[in-house]
Amino acid sequence: MTKKLGFGLMRLPLTDPNNNGSIDIELLKQMVDVFLQRGFTYFDTAWMYCDGQSEYAVNEALTKRYPRSAFTVTSKLPNGPLTTLEDRDRIFYEQLRKTGLSYFDYYLLHAIGDQNIERFEQFDCFRWLMEKKAQGLAGRIGFSFHGTPELLDKLLTKYPQLDVVQLQINYLDWESEKVRSRQCHEIAVRHGKDIIIMEPVRGGALADVPEKVKMMFKNADSKLSVPSWAIRFAAGLENVIMVLSGMSNLEQVLDNTGYMSDFKPLTDEEFKMALFAGEIISGQAEIACTGCGYCTERCPKNIAIGQYFGALNKKDKPRYDALTAYFGKASDCIQCGQCEKACPQQLPIRGYLKSVAERFE
Ligand code: SF4
Ligand code: SF4
Repeated sequence: MTKKLGFGLMRLPLTDPNNNGSIDIELLKQMVDVFLQRGFTYFDTAWMYCDGQSEYAVNEALTKRYPRSAFTVTSKLPNGPLTTLEDRDRIFYEQLRKTGLSYFDYYLLHAIGDQNIERFEQFDCFRWLMEKKAQGLAGRIGFSFHGTPELLDKLLTKYPQLDVVQLQINYLDWESEKVRSRQCHEIAVRHGKDIIIMEPVRGGALADVPEKVKMMFKNADSKLSVPSWAIRFAAGLENVIMVLSGMSNLEQVLDNTGYMSDFKPLTDEEFKMALFAGEIISGQAEIACTGCGYCTERCPKNIAIGQYFGALNKKDKPRYDALTAYFGKASDCIQCGQCEKACPQQLPIRGYLKSVAERFE
């Protein structure tokens, strides 16, 4: 059976912590080697990850070093850079060139939401995607999704040809009003789709939990790490074929591949406990940011939005001060709103930045 842990190539180890594109390729190679040696094969990249460098890293760490049959790669079509119909092919073939691959095992439309679906439709991306599959350039096709359950239902009804859907599911968002993980999961199951899960650890928030939650998990099983609860929560759900974890160091690879080698789904009791942990955590974090970085790409002031929100959640002023040496300050925001159009979590970023400035500046 395919192992259900996928290597997310969005939060890779960096040689310069303030430069998202400075991937530490040598360390990544070691991580990839361990991952493959332990029987895991699935890798998830995208056009915009690591300031556009993630797909090159696939080439360096995988394509040049392993036979094609040894690994599975997913990449995605972004909607931001699309201005003409020709852009779809231009980006797709550039992605093949960057990764050194001749086809993608999975290819998805990236981060569909209620705010950008019109754009994907305007550029006829669904039909184009089906053509790519028919041409043998994309093995299985679908989309990653950050919209409402209503939109998900509509799309899966309109495009039954799609194989797979990638959803944000974790025990914190399971019943949240914004993400509504449970409802999206139920809809995907009803449509008979295979499901890939992203953000199972909610951008690291479910790895660094309050003391009370740590103790609860430890008492339940002292051998298991805190993030293992989040990954197992996701992996045990119906129709889930893969759970992505954005791994940034070797320790994370060793931990994740350890408990996922012989994966045991949560029992009903453990599932309820994870949901209870989610309730405790959601009462504490101020801003539900996953740190994905999509917003910063569009910011004319180069404000490190996600990292600032992380600092605010942790009440870490020294971290904020250190980041402002490289990025625009929270108070530099000119309220243009570009960031909010890109945020898959639909956060009121401009308002939150005011809180950051008030707290830290
Ligand atoms: S609203 Fe502020 S933070 Fe957002 S993109 Fe514009 S300048 Fe950057
Ligand atoms: S504010 Fe939104 S887009 Fe920016 S890092 Fe957080 S979740 Fe991602």
